[in-house]
Amino acid sequence: MAEQKPHFLLMTYPAQGHINPALQFSKKLRRAGADVTLITSVSAHTRIDKATVPTGVEFESFSDGYDNGYRASDGDVMDYLSTFRQRGANTLETLFQKSASKGKHVTCVVYTLLLPWAAEVARKFHVPSALLWIQPATVFDVYYYYFNGYGDIIKECEKDPSWSLELPNLPFKLVTRDLPSFLLPSNPFLYTFALPTFQEQMEQLEKEEKPRILVNSFEDLEIHAFKSIEKLSLVPIGPLLPSAFLDGKDPSDKSFGGDLFQKSKDTDYIKWLNLNKCSSVIYVSFGSLSVLSKEQMEQLAIALIQTHRPFLWVIREIGKKEKFVPDNNEEDSLSCMEQLKQQGLIVPWCSQVEVLSHPSVGCFVTHCGWNSTLESLTSGVPMVAFPQWTDQTTNAKLVEDIWKSGVRVKVSNEEGGLVKSEEIKRCLEIVMESEEIRENAKKWKELAVEAAQEGGSSDRNLKAFMEELFNVDCQNP
Ligand code: UDP
Repeated sequence: MAEQKPHFLLMTYPAQGHINPALQFSKKLRRAGADVTLITSVSAHTRIDKATVPTGVEFESFSDGYDNGYRASDGDVMDYLSTFRQRGANTLETLFQKSASKGKHVTCVVYTLLLPWAAEVARKFHVPSALLWIQPATVFDVYYYYFNGYGDIIKECEKDPSWSLELPNLPFKLVTRDLPSFLLPSNPFLYTFALPTFQEQMEQLEKEEKPRILVNSFEDLEIHAFKSIEKLSLVPIGPLLPSAFLDGKDPSDKSFGGDLFQKSKDTDYIKWLNLNKCSSVIYVSFGSLSVLSKEQMEQLAIALIQTHRPFLWVIREIGKKEKFVPDNNEEDSLSCMEQLKQQGLIVPWCSQVEVLSHPSVGCFVTHCGWNSTLESLTSGVPMVAFPQWTDQTTNAKLVEDIWKSGVRVKVSNEEGGLVKSEEIKRCLEIVMESEEIRENAKKWKELAVEAAQEGGSSDRNLKAFMEELFNVDCQNP
């Protein structure tokens, strides 16, 4: 083949939790000597801070019909995904044609969650594809088995309170509350879009001669989950975090660069963190999508006040249009706002990786989105796991029972799914006080850094992936 660098087309869904690992993966590919074109919708593309991305990573965008960002309340999710698919696939095809017209070759198509059709486009152009799985390997396994022999068993999960599930080569049981919420028969209608997409993903992988699944996780963290499925090889290449917070290879790589809320530029919260003692601050955030009910927010506020500890709480400014979960009242002011402001700091957004790596942060109250969980593990910050939906329930199980780096809140069944203030306070006190949990968190931090460093397991895996593709390239110039 002519002296062309390997060229990756990386397609990502335009949500914060997808953009962040995709951007980080682009930077990694770039550092490994490849050219990358990152493709996403106009809404996400316009908000990416291109200055934080090295040259050699190019951007391509297409309109998904919502150039100011799509919210579930804007219209049917299925319709949205179908438009995204059609326009995304067209964009990929055009890029293939453009490359060919310049006499250039595409090495591989990489795609994140909810975009299984990207593999089909790659096959059409006889180019390998790789799924960049941005949830834990364990969650991939659960979905895989749901569509391969365990669906009927899992469908029974809400009928019997003593129900539990054992999966091949996974050394722990899952109970109903540990399953990804999309698998529960009670999964709300609004989210029924998810399962057919995961099913299609599994089918797409089956069509591949050599399915490639790269996982934003690391070997020591999920040693059994990577090997659970005999037919598929899951390859850990994470954590996908800015280098400055991980391997230090590039100290200038300090942010994801894809702040869809464009709010983290105000960094007064870092000055505020500087004023607090080591490991004394409770950091609270529920990610970029979840919206707690007003009642739940009040319970959380009471718990924070009763701990008498300083806290940094991210409460997103949610316009009525941004409603994602039915009872969105988050924008209503909390009854104890004055007291909260005396004890802690409330911000609309922050650079989370920076906050978690700050020495004064002692605990993270998190919804257990996979990025947040991985960021917390990599920073050695113990967690109060407060899952809401999708993979977060499984992630919370792993945090509490397998990694033992946090405690999961118990939902009060009598109170219709509410987590009461006493329960939140109980978890906060355990996590802030437990030496054992702090030691475990520290251990995971060390192992995460080790995996990402030069010669570490994730670093070796990425190099092997690139080498293998390079050989394919040489055989098919
Ligand atoms: N995040 C951030 N600032 C915030 C809240 C979230 O930078 O105030 C980032 C966080 O670091 C993570 C992403 O947004 O990388 C959220 O992804 P996650 O998978 O945790 O949750 P999701 O938003 O998808 O539910």
